[in-house]
Amino acid sequence: MSALEALKQDTRGLMVVLSSPSGAGKTTLTRRLLADNPNMEMSVSATTRTPRPGEKEGVDYFFVTKGKFAEWEEQGEFLENARVFDNYYGTPRGPVEKALTRGHDVIFDIDWQGAQQLNQVAANDLVKIFILPPNMRELEQRLKTRAQDSPEVIAKRMSKSENEISHWPEYDYVIVNENIDTASRELQTIVDAERLRRRRQMWLGGFVKSLVNGG
Ligand code: 5GP
Repeated sequence: MSALEALKQDTRGLMVVLSSPSGAGKTTLTRRLLADNPNMEMSVSATTRTPRPGEKEGVDYFFVTKGKFAEWEEQGEFLENARVFDNYYGTPRGPVEKALTRGHDVIFDIDWQGAQQLNQVAANDLVKIFILPPNMRELEQRLKTRAQDSPEVIAKRMSKSENEISHWPEYDYVIVNENIDTASRELQTIVDAERLRRRRQMWLGGFVKSLVNGG
């Protein structure tokens, strides 16, 4: 590692929030981002909803009872939490703080309520990105192809989509996911640019001082 690369380790991790209506392709985009960025970690939420087929405890969510969720909330274990559809969702505080301390970035798949709450506690670290589908037909199609939810749940999610979409102006960036490769590239571009923000490159002050001192 060069001396400059060593200095650059002193960079503050990003908190990347990704919100979208269900079925806009957020999960695929998140997986790609994680695969391409070794210093990025996914925040695993707790939820009171039942697991879908294939979902793994501790990987997709921590699946907990309403009682356990309320206990964690009372103990201040959540960085943010909200009711979405008929279930409760929350971001456990500990893993996020550990990751950021290690200089890692953390990615959050949370709704607009969660994004607003994180904005109140960590505005400087936050990058808020909203993913839109190219049209509503596509959204419904993606929800159906996922085939993990009952028709009633799909109908409910479609009706909630409009509400979720109405929050797009609260985000820093918006990606319209018509083509997954393009959307994925756009997401990476946002992350790369945000890493270059002056306030996140904590090593710059010392570096510039040594530069002007003839270093
Ligand atoms: P799903 O049940 O389809 O996995 O998620 C439903 C919605 O809840 C999605 O919009 C997702 O982003 C949101 N969500 C998942 N985890 C959290 C969380 O910890 N906090 C908040 N506020 N929303 C969450």
